[in-house]
Amino acid sequence: MPDQHQQPVIQEDPIAAIATPLGIGALAVIRVSGRGALDIAGKVFRKAVDPDFRFGDSKGFVAHFGRVYDRDGLVDEVVALVFRSPGSFTREDMVEFSCHGGPVVVRHLLQALYEAGCRPAEPGEFTRRAFMNGRIDLLQAEAIGEMIHARSESAYRTAVNQMQGNLSLKLDQLRQRLLESCALLELELDFSEEDVEFQSRGELKEQLMQLKEEVQKLVDSYQHGRLLSEGVATVIVGKPNAGKSTLLNTLLGEERAIVSHMPGTTRDYIEECFVHEKTMFRLTDTAGLRESDEEIEREGIGRSYRKIGEADLILYMLDISQPDYLQEAEVVREFRDTYGRAKLIVIANKTDLVPDAEERICKIQEETGCDVVGLSAKQGEGMETLLKQMSNMVEGLDKLHDASVLVTSLRHYVSLRNASDAVGNALSLLGAYAGTELIAFELRSALDYVGEITGKVVSEELLNVIFDRFCIGK
Ligand code: GDP
Repeated sequence: MPDQHQQPVIQEDPIAAIATPLGIGALAVIRVSGRGALDIAGKVFRKAVDPDFRFGDSKGFVAHFGRVYDRDGLVDEVVALVFRSPGSFTREDMVEFSCHGGPVVVRHLLQALYEAGCRPAEPGEFTRRAFMNGRIDLLQAEAIGEMIHARSESAYRTAVNQMQGNLSLKLDQLRQRLLESCALLELELDFSEEDVEFQSRGELKEQLMQLKEEVQKLVDSYQHGRLLSEGVATVIVGKPNAGKSTLLNTLLGEERAIVSHMPGTTRDYIEECFVHEKTMFRLTDTAGLRESDEEIEREGIGRSYRKIGEADLILYMLDISQPDYLQEAEVVREFRDTYGRAKLIVIANKTDLVPDAEERICKIQEETGCDVVGLSAKQGEGMETLLKQMSNMVEGLDKLHDASVLVTSLRHYVSLRNASDAVGNALSLLGAYAGTELIAFELRSALDYVGEITGKVVSEELLNVIFDRFCIGK
């Protein structure tokens, strides 16, 4: 984690932006940060009880009640909260105005601040400054973004853990250990004439193996972390008219997909999210899986297969009211073998239409070798069992990983995988009695990859990509 006490604060040019959603509400918050922020904010503000008041004379973390004026007169009554550098989110001088939450009020207040010397903030600029000034590391900055966008309890919890710095701490420890091994090797290089070893090769191997194992654990946790932060990619497959759109609508609780009697109406795929208990599922209804002459429908079917390949969970739906309900058993078995039992839930739909539903379900179980959930998508019967099965799949993964240090972002996953590979290369080189400089080179790379995650080693381009995703005022 960054050490905010050691790093000097750089106060950049003053910026202002609304920090709350633009719209009608009881209150809106406008933030001002940067060099001279207290003076600029003071130009538009008059304290109710003290006409000579200046923000520069105020302590930090103090609220002042007063009025904001522009050239034409009174803008609004506000509360102004003062933060003095380095005790603010950006570590710069900051003032936060709470004004009444109307779009026109906000526009006037911002305009007054621009005229007094601020410029409009870029998306994510406040958080970027917090990072640049060592208030938070890059991982924590991203976690703030993830927390704001979290739509499920699990995604929120994971982001909070990351914001607290659990993963940052773990990565800093790993980095420290890599640094020590690397430093010893580099010292040997400085003394290369004298042929000394500052650390025995056996010891180094032991350390690197431990490091690799720990990095690999983090790499593997992405499988779970991704499900929590992005949601479980779920596809519903089955023949046209099996009831896929009906199930989708029931799960989403709204008429999103067009339900129709004509086979082949779900030509493309649609994706919608819903949260069950703590987990978010991203649902895709696919075009019916049948041979088709029609070009558009064929394209839809092609896309369906691609979606199935990428899915975390497949709901295979059979219509058990049809006389040939066992016809697809072979296809289901293929799905089971290709995608794995853990990913597949077989649904026997339309149980309300046949009196011998239980018997038919047993037959499907025998023929496919899969557990089968009986369902009436139309009447909602069996939905609870289905949802329970869907949640179980994610809970199974829960137990595999320490939830406080999960990797949830593709960027972090890629860097960690690269780091793990680099340590692996160093180990191979060590085994092959390769030169010290080659091993040191691999460890340096591993260090850089880990440093990329928290922002110790970072390019301007990467920062732009990360902070552009934030909203203005964050
Ligand atoms: P899709 O082509 O697989 O998306 O199938 P749809 O959801 O469009 O459903 C096809 C037809 O079956 C519609 O008329 C639905 O109302 C009907 N249907 C779907 N599920 C059930 C069910 O559980 N019971 C009954 N009786 N009809 C259903």
